[in-house]
Amino acid sequence: MRKKLDNLKNNLKNRNPEEIIQFVLKEFGIKDIVFSSSLGLEDQVLTDMILKIEPEARIMTLDTGRLFQETYALIQKTMKKYSMKYEIYFPDTAEVEKIVRENGPDLFYEKSEYRKLCCHIRKILPLKRALKDVKAWICGLRQDQSEDRREIDVIEWDENFEIFKINPLYQWSYEDVWKYVREKEVPYNELHDKGFISIGCAPCTRAVCEGEDFRSGRWWWEKGSKKECGLHLNQKTEVKKGGKIWIEYKNLKP
Ligand code: SF4
Repeated sequence: MRKKLDNLKNNLKNRNPEEIIQFVLKEFGIKDIVFSSSLGLEDQVLTDMILKIEPEARIMTLDTGRLFQETYALIQKTMKKYSMKYEIYFPDTAEVEKIVRENGPDLFYEKSEYRKLCCHIRKILPLKRALKDVKAWICGLRQDQSEDRREIDVIEWDENFEIFKINPLYQWSYEDVWKYVREKEVPYNELHDKGFISIGCAPCTRAVCEGEDFRSGRWWWEKGSKKECGLHLNQKTEVKKGGKIWIEYKNLKP
């Protein structure tokens, strides 16, 4: 695996995002690679690039059931503009019913473990289903999004899902992203015009002030935690098996 990863890295370095996308679609085949869109600004750029290169490319997204109405509107608008369909994944109904019955609909404000549990059920497990049959996934991560993302590379081996992960915009700045959006008239979430930068679920996202960290609007009530839901944490995490809280980022089990 290490050798293949190094070869791919060598092939991809010094290429622009469109060239990276072209290369990996060909390398993995359009059935075996999926772009995971969160409908964020970077992901809208990638949607535009990918569909212009390959209109049949697979694009998936997660509907956690707690998204902003503005995000649903953007899904609708994007489908219409590009005449495309998302592979939309929902959380397991029984799992959601269980945590909401036990802890209430806004359990994530109660404690960090509940927040991780909610993300686990509404995001990680559906993503695991979405990625189970592919060899690679494309993401909109950038190095300057946060301290935790400084080290991301153009292609990585994702230990959580045991597939390759490609980050075509890894070296882009936030200004580069906006420039592309404006020049190509890419549809974007209107919340970006109201101070929102990184947009996730409605109850867990707020606008940020100038100078604040890119991810500081996510789970803002949690102090000192990584501002990640687990989708992009490439590591094992301790699991509490005895209680009702469990979370695993590798070899995920429901
Ligand atoms: S972001 Fe909030 S509402 Fe969405 S899955 Fe995570 S904890 Fe639940």
